[in-house]
Amino acid sequence: MVLEKLSDSLKNTLQKIASSVFVDEKLINELVKDIQRALLQADVNVSLVFDLTKGIKDRIKNEETPGGLTKKEHLINIVYDELVSFLGKEGHKIEVTQKPFKIMLVGLFGSGKTTTTGKLARFFTKRGNKVALVGLDVHRPAAMDQLEQVANNAKVPYFIDKKEKDPIKIWRKSKDEYDNFDVLLIDTAGRDALSSELIEEIENVTDEIKPDEKLLVISADIGQTAQTQAEQFHKSCAITGVVATKMDGTAKAGGALSACAVTGAPIKFIGVGERIDDLETFNPPGFVSRLLGMGDLEALLEKAKGAISEEEAEDMGKKFLKGDFNLIDLYEQMEAMKKMGPLNKLVEMVPGFSQFKLPKEALNVQQGKLEKWKFIMQSMTKDELERPDEVISTGRIDRIASGSGIGAKEVRELIKQYRQSKKMVKMMKGSGDVNKMMQKFSGQVPKGM
Ligand code: GDP
Ligand code: MG
Repeated sequence: MVLEKLSDSLKNTLQKIASSVFVDEKLINELVKDIQRALLQADVNVSLVFDLTKGIKDRIKNEETPGGLTKKEHLINIVYDELVSFLGKEGHKIEVTQKPFKIMLVGLFGSGKTTTTGKLARFFTKRGNKVALVGLDVHRPAAMDQLEQVANNAKVPYFIDKKEKDPIKIWRKSKDEYDNFDVLLIDTAGRDALSSELIEEIENVTDEIKPDEKLLVISADIGQTAQTQAEQFHKSCAITGVVATKMDGTAKAGGALSACAVTGAPIKFIGVGERIDDLETFNPPGFVSRLLGMGDLEALLEKAKGAISEEEAEDMGKKFLKGDFNLIDLYEQMEAMKKMGPLNKLVEMVPGFSQFKLPKEALNVQQGKLEKWKFIMQSMTKDELERPDEVISTGRIDRIASGSGIGAKEVRELIKQYRQSKKMVKMMKGSGDVNKMMQKFSGQVPKGM
């Protein structure tokens, strides 16, 4: 996952709290030191770190523990709350409010604008919007070829001009076509730094296009220096949001995220890899609960929306939370997850799963098994599918095995998988709930899951 090291340190810290006997000054000081160390290692600016931990300490000192919470739970709640505020408090979704909705991407060379254009094309297409790309990067040689490739990969139309050197002229050339689309994604040229020349170009293009969103694409691997960049762009180009790319493969992303948050330019998306699906909406509460190992059901549902219908997604979420599901549900969930992308990425987002450190092989096996499961399930009676625990006996396993032409071992494996998932689903119930988290931390969870 992104920020794995920070996440591990923070989880360790919370675990320390959970397993301590008293909440006393010593524990609190240790907690604060741990958090400081973890954030500094993630390249968060020193004064931001001190502000944050001072806030945490003050709250611990001044707040009464609310009824119904233990002191430890209250402590964890404060850490969670403060980290969420630290990263911008709430998510800022982009609503497509008019047609065509124009989203322009700006940023320095190599920050990931063109790549993100393709990812956003996929993002909005999945949500049912008709999308086209417009390439206005007239500076970088081969920029137009890259955009062409990106558009083809995203399977959306594109408007470019490989010879024209004036971005305004390129934009005007295809103006009649734009009304055919719900979302236009406009890629622009970068520079090595935010020069007056770049500001002027962005201003001119803005005047002409009047974008509904102007997103600054910023590479998270620059860490806390993102602050100056975000501030400058915020001031001179009136950006409406930030996309922080390359969140994967950098330990400095904490610095970049917190730096953007202080400039007041909301982070709307994060890029988490080079592939077209490696884009996530950014939502501080979900992000922090994932960091702390509390899972992120909302991100999962968000992702599910693209691949399956909203109803299906909601159903799936409800079943996860309800904690009772049968074999058919298990199958449907696995199938839905397959549609959504690599299981191991998704599993991080399911509340509770991230705690269990599932072996990678186990997840791959699950994906490969779907076909066989389908055959096995086709050989089951309705009753067996709906109430497997009650009705499937050894004798029935043999019957199902011969009926499906798949070995009894596999049938048993499916049942085992079902039982494990059911158990997990039960534990996920009420995720984000501090109570449950404390239980998990204090080790009241079956090992090996
Ligand atoms: P531009 O100059 O701003 O248009 O940047 P590009 O879109 O051409 O991206 C520059 C490089 O960054 C390319 O090699 C991309 O594959 C890479 N890149 C972009 N976004 C991400 C991301 O989220 N993760 C990783 N690992 N690489 C990325
Ligand atoms: Mg580019």
